[in-house]
Amino acid sequence: MSARQDSYAPLDPGRRVLMGAGPSDMHPRVYQAMGAPLTGHLDPYFIGVMDDIKALLRYAFQTRNDMTLAISATGSAGMETCVCNLVEPGDEVLICVGGVFGDRMAQMVERHGGRLIRLESEPGQPFTPEQLRKALTGCQPKLVGLVHAETSTGVLQPLEEIIAVIHEHDALVLVDTVASLGGTPVKVDEWCIDVCYTGSQKCLSAPPGLAPLTFNDRALEAIASRKTPVDSWYLDLSLINAYWDGDRVYHHTAPVSLFYALREALVLIHEEGLEDGHLRHALNYEAFRAGIDAMGLAFYVDPPHRAPTINPVLAPEGIDEAGVRRRLLEEYGLELGGGLGALKGKAWRVGLMGQSSQRDHVMLCLGALEQALLAEGHKAAGSGVAAASAVYAG
Ligand SMILES: *Cc1c(COP(=O)(O)O)cnc(C)c1O
Repeated sequence: MSARQDSYAPLDPGRRVLMGAGPSDMHPRVYQAMGAPLTGHLDPYFIGVMDDIKALLRYAFQTRNDMTLAISATGSAGMETCVCNLVEPGDEVLICVGGVFGDRMAQMVERHGGRLIRLESEPGQPFTPEQLRKALTGCQPKLVGLVHAETSTGVLQPLEEIIAVIHEHDALVLVDTVASLGGTPVKVDEWCIDVCYTGSQKCLSAPPGLAPLTFNDRALEAIASRKTPVDSWYLDLSLINAYWDGDRVYHHTAPVSLFYALREALVLIHEEGLEDGHLRHALNYEAFRAGIDAMGLAFYVDPPHRAPTINPVLAPEGIDEAGVRRRLLEEYGLELGGGLGALKGKAWRVGLMGQSSQRDHVMLCLGALEQALLAEGHKAAGSGVAAASAVYAG
């Protein structure tokens, strides 16, 4: 018997407002770019697209690094590319674990044979330079890994001072900027970040599936002096770079339409200007914060440590957080993230990333949340919409 259905409904997910932990909304120009005719992955036109992406990524990362490109896979593959190219069996590696994504990085270090030193933060707190200084007195790691915006907790890790401490101990610095790049400043060269990766679908607002990254010369020297080959063929940076640069040697068939989309998303960021984009993210976070405060709801993270791009808001006692999310999706097409890791079942994670960091999104989210909470039996203390309006007016 065949399990084949006679017919399938036309694909039509309907309109969504994406305010979860990613993907974020895409600009119409990015959808349009994705529909452009395919070229071959070695077509001269496509090589030009890759060169544009490299230049635009250097702008977004604020770096002059030659080795700046995008891995053809999601943000986690960007993480794994950095780990597997830099870590050889037996290397000591310190990973700062403040949530799910720091933990993921730590797992990768172990799988690639590194000797893991795991440093944990206080819940809802960033790491302090003091904490790093203390951890680094007892060891001599080759690499220290940090997450800039830990999406599972909403904590933004201040980087400059902590990087200086790590460099005093001669270790390379690896930073996950998946939930921060494009939404809040990431100055790769000025802050002396050796290795850095991001994902296409968060603050860059391209489709999921690409992981931009950048390596400085110090990090490339560390790769050049490896004693063993990189233990992943697909993620071996020197093989990938032979396609992105120089000889254009076939490595894998680039996902052509995703590259088009990333290029257009980066052009949009370039047109707005990075700094203006950061200011937009800061303003929309500020309006959202005022709204949540006015409604009498609580953030998980204290104000000075919040990432403007991802905001866990605690569900009030007795409220079913998944039930509220279901309502928002059914009634408003609005997606919020659920709690992840320690916050599972306890919080909504509200993303204000890239194209989703907009005034109309903030107003819809606050108004819809107020209604959904009411339907679930919780009356907000005050009007979130009014409080956010006041921020936009002022
Ligand atoms: C989303 C995310 C990742 C993983 O990216 P995927 O595209 O889901 O593989 C890694 N780190 C952080 C901080 C993230 O937010």
